[in-house]
Amino acid sequence: MANFYSPQTYGELNEGISQVLFSEEDIQNRVLELGQAISRDYEGCRPLLVGVLKGVFPFMSDLLRAITIPVEVDFMAIASYSAEARDKGYVRLQKDLDESIAGRHVLFVEDVVDTGLTLNYLLGNLRARGPASIKVCALFNKGRRRLISVPLQYKGFDLPDKFVVGYGLDYRELYRNLPFVGLLKPQVFSPGR
Ligand code: 5GP
Repeated sequence: MANFYSPQTYGELNEGISQVLFSEEDIQNRVLELGQAISRDYEGCRPLLVGVLKGVFPFMSDLLRAITIPVEVDFMAIASYSAEARDKGYVRLQKDLDESIAGRHVLFVEDVVDTGLTLNYLLGNLRARGPASIKVCALFNKGRRRLISVPLQYKGFDLPDKFVVGYGLDYRELYRNLPFVGLLKPQVFSPGR
């Protein structure tokens, strides 16, 4: 049987959490199911998993190991713009992929899809490079906040319209190391109040 960390192990970080939405066990079980589905669907295709740093790295790492067929992985990084620029869907590539994706079966792996603007921009950018196919696997989906329709062929969980941290998702660069996903206490956002 798998061993899971107790949230209390994370002392100070866990004290900032008001509610655990998805436990480590919930996440690991779902990632295993996603890996099995992808292994079935991409048999004989040698897919290329593409992720955007940094938030996706724990999910990518677990998903990669849950996939049982030959698979490759590559990463991009994007710069964070002002809130206004992001609202318009502007994204600047800070690190591009190492390899060409022309003729490849690309599976784009995302941590959270919120408005869909980032994903929409990146999918357009990747489609222009001539992949054989391109699909999306997102661990979390915030459907209510969607501004633009984006196809999610593989989806882990639906999230409420709330800011979450853990399992790669940060608040001011912290909380990425939590193996579960939860909500932050209000005082974390406004210390001293
Ligand atoms: P979108 O362009 O879909 O609005 O933004 C997606 C990106 O916003 C995600 O890849 C993630 O970096 C960030 N994001 C969206 N919701 C959350 C959240 O609840 N928590 C954290 N930490 N990041 C989020």
